[in-house]
Amino acid sequence: MKILVIINPVAGSGKALRRLTGVKRWLSQSSHDFIYEISSTSDEMRSKIRGAPARGIDAIILSGGDGTVHQALPAIAETGLPFGYLPCGRGNDFARNIGLPPDLKSNCAFLSTPSFHRFDLPSINQKTPFVAVAYVGFDGEVNRLANAHKGYFGGTLGYIICVLKALKNFKPFEVEITIDGHTLRERVMMVSVANAPFYGGGMKIAPQAIMDDGVLDICIVKEISKFELLRQFPKVFKGTHVTHPRIMMAAGRTIKIVSNEERDLFADGEHAGKLPVECTVNNRTIRVLAPSNTNTLDSLK
Ligand SMILES: [Mg+2]
Repeated sequence: MKILVIINPVAGSGKALRRLTGVKRWLSQSSHDFIYEISSTSDEMRSKIRGAPARGIDAIILSGGDGTVHQALPAIAETGLPFGYLPCGRGNDFARNIGLPPDLKSNCAFLSTPSFHRFDLPSINQKTPFVAVAYVGFDGEVNRLANAHKGYFGGTLGYIICVLKALKNFKPFEVEITIDGHTLRERVMMVSVANAPFYGGGMKIAPQAIMDDGVLDICIVKEISKFELLRQFPKVFKGTHVTHPRIMMAAGRTIKIVSNEERDLFADGEHAGKLPVECTVNNRTIRVLAPSNTNTLDSLK
């Protein structure tokens, strides 16, 4: 196979670039033919992907973060090329979601003998595809602060600072959520629509989400006190928040979220518009180079 490796030089504060020598050495042990290209902007990355079939390229490997994967999705979907991922970002939830090995060397070994999985590719307002989770409310506000402070502080401590800052000014809001035609109205802290279990750097918001079952999993955190939100927050890293009486889990294929208040929607860590939104899982899929222990229907059999 001829495989194009696209490196995002800014992901993870330059990690993809720093690890490039090692990646080239590890991948050179495979029988495939790898071409390495650096893309400084997401437009450049998408045009490289769109041009890949004409160059006889059989697969893409994205070396970057969750944002890199998210921004590549429209071009990946258009070409129908399978893609693999070398996690070099801050959160690396895509790696968690598809069950990639924890270190880059093992990842390279795995990519030398890849297997393909077909995953659902849901979209927002029939336009913006996302692969992990789309969300509005408290988690979106934390995301907005984390993106605004990129480079100032990273890691878990940085994230906790963003949570506390977001909590200070946060107010619950009223939404109308329609799941496959059934509508409910609630005052909520947040609504998350998940194609995959993990987002936000290891938060297991929808533990039961499966990436190829044609269904989106929804987590609705109803209005609770700030103290209670903070108390429940650590549980999301294990996915044990789901039993809380004010947290509702649901599933559906079309989820519409409307509010009278202006609220930003985020998806896969990136700003993805404002309410109202409709998240749908159609029959659109992507092919991913993923290990056999990936979170799929097959793996549950
Ligand atoms: Mg699903």
